[in-house]
Amino acid sequence: MRPDEFLRAAHLLPHELRVRANALRPYLRAQGCAECERIGDQLSLALTAATYDEMVAAGQLLAAAERRAAAHDGSHDPPTAGLGRLWAA
Ligand SMILES: [Zn+2]
Repeated sequence: MRPDEFLRAAHLLPHELRVRANALRPYLRAQGCAECERIGDQLSLALTAATYDEMVAAGQLLAAAERRAAAHDGSHDPPTAGLGRLWAA
């Protein structure tokens, strides 16, 4: 998911969901960790659901991604290294 795609889809979300989606955004760039990539995939699905105005599904997918991220937390540093550079490009 490209940054502009993320922003367009996130803009459709209700404020509370948008804040939560933003918190998980680094996982969209996760590489080298299958679990982080799955979290990013779920976030991507949540945003896709939002573009189809499926906010209940978006919320469920987001909650699933959050649960996954919480369980995975502490396994290694969050996928943020180099992110600013990548997203600024
Ligand atoms: Zn990971």
